[in-house]
Amino acid sequence: MTPLVDTFGRLHDNLRISVTDRCNIRCFYCMPEEGVKFEPRENILTFEEIERFVKIAVTMGIRKLRVTGGEPLVRKGLPALIRKLVAIPGIQDLALTTNGVLLAQHAQELYDAGLRRINVHLDTLDRERFKHITRRDDLDKVLNGIELCRKLGYGPIKINAVAVKNLVEPDVVELARFGRERDIEIRYIEFMPLDAQGIWERDRVLTMDTMIAMLQREIGPLEEIPDADPRAPATEYRFKDGVGRVGFIASVSKPFCLNCNRVRLTSDGKLRYCLFAIDETDVKSLLRSNAPDSAIVEAVRSCVADKWIGHEINTQKFVPPPRPMYSIGG
Ligand code: SAM
Ligand code: SF4
Repeated sequence: MTPLVDTFGRLHDNLRISVTDRCNIRCFYCMPEEGVKFEPRENILTFEEIERFVKIAVTMGIRKLRVTGGEPLVRKGLPALIRKLVAIPGIQDLALTTNGVLLAQHAQELYDAGLRRINVHLDTLDRERFKHITRRDDLDKVLNGIELCRKLGYGPIKINAVAVKNLVEPDVVELARFGRERDIEIRYIEFMPLDAQGIWERDRVLTMDTMIAMLQREIGPLEEIPDADPRAPATEYRFKDGVGRVGFIASVSKPFCLNCNRVRLTSDGKLRYCLFAIDETDVKSLLRSNAPDSAIVEAVRSCVADKWIGHEINTQKFVPPPRPMYSIGG
């Protein structure tokens, strides 16, 4: 089958699958503290529906999967889905993004199901700041989960840290030191306008350049990794002393849309060509109406064909997407 190439020539081989919009913590840049309206359970794709969709997507050239949410570990029986996805011929890479709170409980089972790559979301090593950001007191659980994953042999383990200005500056260097001691890459993600309460402001984005300057001043020189995958969202650096690496997802200060190779399936079965897309393609109705594979192929193609050249955060025209991060799947 012809590969999934959009009108700007970008090849799509990467699918992010959200398995739930629910979460066990409440990061302020993603969810409101209270009163979150979750999708009714019957609207959430079953594991069988996800598996069928992925099998069809593989025939169109999808090779890499990332399971995300909401918090994917609150979805019951997740290891069973991981087992199904790993077994699909053609899938070359499977990773999970989690907040880590339930990781110690599930890491062994997920490893046994075939998961090896994991990104743990952790913005700070300071308990009070963790409580402030997540509105929960769960830092120790996350740290225990990371330690267990190291012992079990997961790799690579990466940490996702959301970079909010006037808040996490003390954490940038501390996290990098934590990563250097454990051979864990820290990926700093610029704060994006995807929060549920509309609190994002450009002035609250801690930018890649600022963080690089902080790291070089406090730890030592960094150099860009020359052979890094040009289609990966993060710009990756290593410390020149040979110990440790860091990555930056500079979606706001240096958008990487021209290299984008991703599509996203939401937990309620909508396909999106961009985190910031306004439109989405309903594949759940097709999956639930016994539509033939060819109809699903057509829906995926039409979604990718509609893909824009890039988000418009840096223009006056920018309109935030109608769903916040937890509901899209980050
Ligand atoms: N619950 C999991 C977690 O937190 O990793 C998976 C889903 S979460 C929506 C995926 C990622 O989105 C998180 O790792 C976090 O770094 C990122 N994120 C959430 N809200 C964000 C925002 N407003 N700006 C930038 N990144 C954000
Ligand atoms: Fe939950 Fe992840 Fe959103 Fe934080 S970023 S509230 S952990 S879904």
